[in-house]
Amino acid sequence: MKNFYYLLLLLLPLAACQSSVTDTVTDEVEMPTPPEFAMVIHGGAGPIRPENMTPEKEASIREALNEALDAGEAILEAGGSAADAVEATIHILEDSPHFNAGRGAVFTHEGTNSLDASFMTGHDRQAGAVSGISNIQHPISLARKVLEESEHVMLSGTGAEEFAQSVGMETIDPSWFYTERRYESLQRVLEEEREALETTGQLPPFTNPDNKFGTVGCVALDKEGNIAAGTSTGGMTNKRYDRIGDSPIIGAGTFADNNSCGVSCTGHGEYFIRWAVAYDLHARMTYGDATLEEAANAVIHEVLPEVGGTGGLIALDRYGNIVMPFNTHGMYRGYIKAGEERAVELYK
Ligand code: ASP
Repeated sequence: MKNFYYLLLLLLPLAACQSSVTDTVTDEVEMPTPPEFAMVIHGGAGPIRPENMTPEKEASIREALNEALDAGEAILEAGGSAADAVEATIHILEDSPHFNAGRGAVFTHEGTNSLDASFMTGHDRQAGAVSGISNIQHPISLARKVLEESEHVMLSGTGAEEFAQSVGMETIDPSWFYTERRYESLQRVLEEEREALETTGQLPPFTNPDNKFGTVGCVALDKEGNIAAGTSTGGMTNKRYDRIGDSPIIGAGTFADNNSCGVSCTGHGEYFIRWAVAYDLHARMTYGDATLEEAANAVIHEVLPEVGGTGGLIALDRYGNIVMPFNTHGMYRGYIKAGEERAVELYK
């Protein structure tokens, strides 16, 4: 028995030494050097196909995506924060009439524009979100203000607009958001509704009329290793009853945690809320040891198609890995990574 204890005493230090060597080796394998900075954007997913596009329109969409990437890249390259990069990048997308966010947002049933946005920083898991906004040019900035200057996470409607004024944000005339293309889209859907009512006596199911989304989003990793994510949208054409989709909901449309990933989603919001899509990526990586790619592919290509949820997402992790999966025909998207060539893509 005594000999056994002596043997144990001899072996213990050896075992300890062995485990620290193993840890070091594991660390080396699991922690590739991240790029200095990285950023990924989307401008919505849907039936985006070359045959539905004119060369002029495609060039103009690419230009807007490139301009948005330029804005974020300049900030990240100069050592700015991921949060600043996300906000500046989304401003460009919100101001572009090509996307369903800010100017160019889709119309509600009543013929108004009602905007939603959310923002999250991954180093402290602080979050801010707004819904039902109609007089703030950049809803993403209001969401960031909620994060930074209120003790709440989510504000809505006139209350959110009151808060905007209390923190000194300028208001604009709601006509800023108007585009003829989106207004005509609403008219088409209203006409379809009238026809359905006349022939069947019932309203058709609420689906996305264009069958095309167009929300915008951005996720960035800065030189400090911090991740931030933001999403901004006009929601879905013909929405009524103050319907709110996933985009302003933390954990559904947006999520960020430095330890796992940052995510921004686009698609049929009701599914993204019920399947907590953005948070699901974080959970699969955190509790299930999935890589970013495995987590994103499982949600977009397995979980959602099984239940009929269409859309896509962009995400990046702390190592600068980027994913942009979607289960629609296309998704406006692009990314930058320090030291690598930029990508801007529209189709599969
Ligand atoms: N997810 C948005 C919503 O459901 C729509 C979109 O992504 O375009 O409101």
